[in-house]
Amino acid sequence: MDFTLAPEDEQFRDELRGWLDEHLEPFLASEEMADDGAMSPEKAQQRRASWQRVLNEGRWAAVHWPEEYNGRAATAMQRILYSEVMTEYRTPGLANPNGLWQIGPMIIAWGTDEQKARWLPCILDASEHWCQGFSEPDAGNDLANLRTTAIRDGDGYVVNGQKIWISTAHLARWGLFLLRTDPTAIERGAKHEGITAFIVDMHTPGIEVRPIRDMTGEEMFNEVYFNDAHLPLDSRLGGEGEGWLVAMGTLGYERVGIAGQISSLAADLRAMVMAARSVNPAALEDPSIQVRLARAWTDIELARLLTMRALSKIIKGEKNWPEVPFAKLKWSELAQTLADLAVDLLGPAGLLARGGPDSVDRGKWTRLYAFQRYSTIGGGSTEVQKNIIADRAIRLPGQARSS
Ligand SMILES: Cc1cc2nc3c(=O)[nH]c(=O)nc-3n(C[C@H](O)[C@H](O)[C@H](O)COP(=O)(O)OP(=O)(O)OC[C@H]3O[C@@H](n4cnc5c(N)ncnc54)[C@H](O)[C@@H]3O)c2cc1C
Repeated sequence: MDFTLAPEDEQFRDELRGWLDEHLEPFLASEEMADDGAMSPEKAQQRRASWQRVLNEGRWAAVHWPEEYNGRAATAMQRILYSEVMTEYRTPGLANPNGLWQIGPMIIAWGTDEQKARWLPCILDASEHWCQGFSEPDAGNDLANLRTTAIRDGDGYVVNGQKIWISTAHLARWGLFLLRTDPTAIERGAKHEGITAFIVDMHTPGIEVRPIRDMTGEEMFNEVYFNDAHLPLDSRLGGEGEGWLVAMGTLGYERVGIAGQISSLAADLRAMVMAARSVNPAALEDPSIQVRLARAWTDIELARLLTMRALSKIIKGEKNWPEVPFAKLKWSELAQTLADLAVDLLGPAGLLARGGPDSVDRGKWTRLYAFQRYSTIGGGSTEVQKNIIADRAIRLPGQARSS
């Protein structure tokens, strides 16, 4: 592939850098937004929402959305450049990446004019939080096995069942949910049929959200129970039975997003070396750690090149796989390797958890050690990615092969 940026990509990157040079510093300097290191999760979320509003005012919150919806119709290459520049400037995160990266594009693709007018603005300016309700106790990797029902009843649908692992549902006013409108489809052996997408008002009577405490001690995930919850007709996104198509579009965005995250791994590696330099410099003299650092750096570069190859195929209009499942596998393994390396680099200080007076970088690395276990599960688990590669890319014989 040709690594030279096209003039329009260079212009996109320069414009973003210029805008950040002008707006990031004043935002970070404002007293209200100052991060004193002891910010509560609620305050941190408010800060991200404020930053997202500033981005939106500059038309930089949802660069991949069409211009008519305050986006910039950014190409796949520009989305990667966007992630790289945001990492380079160490900007605050977005309040609702799920809404911006996945749910918004689906509303743009499938929504009526009324639905777009109602919901896109609050995703963009972070005034209302969104969650994505797909997984169920028996429907994770095998998502089409979902069984929470939405049965047509007069002027709407009545919903019953349970979702699980729904990130930030406890904060959300709205959620994009997949529900089964045809319960006979599973028995008919056609489980991908009879699934419909809905935009759910999380304040609807009959919906109960129960947080789950995870191994980091945080309550980010939730179970969501539906007990005769009534959804109006105009909450349906797309036609009845079209939910699988809506979902595949959403997951497609998620996978490109994961490819974009590789750019933040190099920044993490640099940051953890800096931290070790200040709290445990002896680690940097340890030959075994030096080998791990060199290997991690090389692997990050390889993962970046893999992503670029996927990108070049997208640009040429070719199928972007097997590079995309490979990049997901590589990123998820690397994220865990780096999390392990970080606590080893910090030595005894790597045990100091968040909230403690001596914790390093506010306990970020200690938290990451537990949190990164998610990377080989979320967005398609490792085993299932390997099945896909074995089946469709290498075309190995055996049970996994489906075509
Ligand atoms: C951080 C995080 C955030 C999440 N946020 C959301 C969210 O906001 N909304 C949402 O809907 N969901 C969310 N999820 C759920 C996520 O989509 C599921 O965890 C994922 O789809 C896997 O499903 P599962 O956990 O049910 O595991 P399962 O599918 O039950 O898998 C369990 C194990 O079996 C293996 N396995 C399964 N099938 C096969 C197979 N055919 N061959 C070989 N091995 C197999 C898997 O690899 C895994 O090791 C989140 C998950 C994480 C980790």
